[in-house]
Amino acid sequence: MLEEKIKQITDDFNSDIKSVEDIQKLEEIRIKYLGRNGVVSSLFDELKKASNEEKPALGKSLNLLRNKITEDFNSIKTRFESLDDLKEIKIDLTLPGTRRQIGSKHILTQTLDEIKTIFQSMGFSVYEGPELESDYYNFEALNFAPDHPARDMQDTFFINKDFVLRTHTSPVQIRLMESHKPPVRAIMPGRVYRNEAVSARSYCMFHQVEGLYVDTDVTFAELKGTLVSFAKQFYGDDLKYRFRTSFFPFTEPSAEMDITCFLCHGGGCKVCKQTGWLEILGCGMVDPNVFKYVGYDSEKYTGYAFGMGIERTAMLKYGIDDIRVFFENDLRFLKQF
Ligand SMILES: [Zn+2]
Repeated sequence: MLEEKIKQITDDFNSDIKSVEDIQKLEEIRIKYLGRNGVVSSLFDELKKASNEEKPALGKSLNLLRNKITEDFNSIKTRFESLDDLKEIKIDLTLPGTRRQIGSKHILTQTLDEIKTIFQSMGFSVYEGPELESDYYNFEALNFAPDHPARDMQDTFFINKDFVLRTHTSPVQIRLMESHKPPVRAIMPGRVYRNEAVSARSYCMFHQVEGLYVDTDVTFAELKGTLVSFAKQFYGDDLKYRFRTSFFPFTEPSAEMDITCFLCHGGGCKVCKQTGWLEILGCGMVDPNVFKYVGYDSEKYTGYAFGMGIERTAMLKYGIDDIRVFFENDLRFLKQF
């Protein structure tokens, strides 16, 4: 009789606990089964009436039932309480998600890419060389006299007596000519290093891109034509330009190219320092002395070279007045490009 009741109540409890949905309902079930006047305590009352032979087995079954109900109740209660903790966090599923930020090309990479595209369309390939250079490639083979001021400790990071961090990308021209017979036509981009105080106008590391074209009968007129074509594609079709004589150890004659300031169109402004002109690059005809170092016949071949700073180019094009912003990785700056 009592044994059947215990079985029945076990089944009842199992079905009751299955349908419980919240902590209030769970409490009702606890009171129903484990309360002072609950089902379990009434069964213990009935146990008193059982015969002495039956009592030990029935008592054991009743204890098992009470333990099972207590354990089930406690484990479900713990589960409900942890769910309540989650509700405290208040997740609003209707809010839009947080997007992961997607990177983009750095403004200097974009500028170099644009320069590369223009020169590649004019038949130039891209050639690169090491940033750690020997004194020979960085200075000597480029016709820098032993007492040239660029060798001074003020400008050059010396690694030791023979090696420097390259101060320009020009040594790549030497390496290219050493390993290729004319005609050669390539641009050479890369990082260069100068031992200069960091300021809005100068940085200890920056980027250059140089170009070199050597063949029979290469003329200064071709150099001008190539650079004017580049400047018009890069800065705008309506610019005016001029070439001023200049000096570089590795070119003769040498020139600097100016374009009309595209901000004030020649009228004068802060960017062009009221001159109406912006210097965009240096260039010239390769000095025959340089050809001697690489074994080219200077009677047979002529060539031109040019070079520009990529930071300066980007600063001119986008009106940026501080070179340091390129290297600070401030997303507020970088995201504008
Ligand atoms: Zn201007």
